[in-house]
Amino acid sequence: MKVKVGLGFDSHEFEEGKTLYLGGLKIDFPYGLRGHSDGDVLLHAVTDAILGALGEPDIGELFSDKDERWKGASSRLFLEEALRRVRDKGYEIFNLDCVLIADEPKVSPHKSAIKESLSKLLGIPSENISIKGKRREGFCEAKGMACMCVVLLGKLDEG
Ligand code: MG
Repeated sequence: MKVKVGLGFDSHEFEEGKTLYLGGLKIDFPYGLRGHSDGDVLLHAVTDAILGALGEPDIGELFSDKDERWKGASSRLFLEEALRRVRDKGYEIFNLDCVLIADEPKVSPHKSAIKESLSKLLGIPSENISIKGKRREGFCEAKGMACMCVVLLGKLDEG
């Protein structure tokens, strides 16, 4: 058995009137997350964790915010590319543990729907996905959201 662990982090500022996406799920909230793409901070952290585990270039290298192709793009595209690289190297995702850092929106009412969305996007059972919401408790200014994520990939040894 070969295993690889990857760590992802991302943060985005709030932008009034933009649609908020978390884990590919649309969340009803007056602010979205500013970014070149749809600003899905959770999918960006998950994608970077996967790419990091594989030793591949990171999300910013693969999908530059200077590239017009990714302007307003769904972050699902970035995750799909990372998943393609997982399959190409013969790995599968064992589990995923994420911390969403935000004072608002509250994560807990959306937790199971976000897990369900990620489960579909990643093709793994939702019991192998953990989403935790943490408030800042006074740390930094509440102008956006951040996400940390760790992923474990694995494959059986060949031969
Ligand atoms: Mg990002």
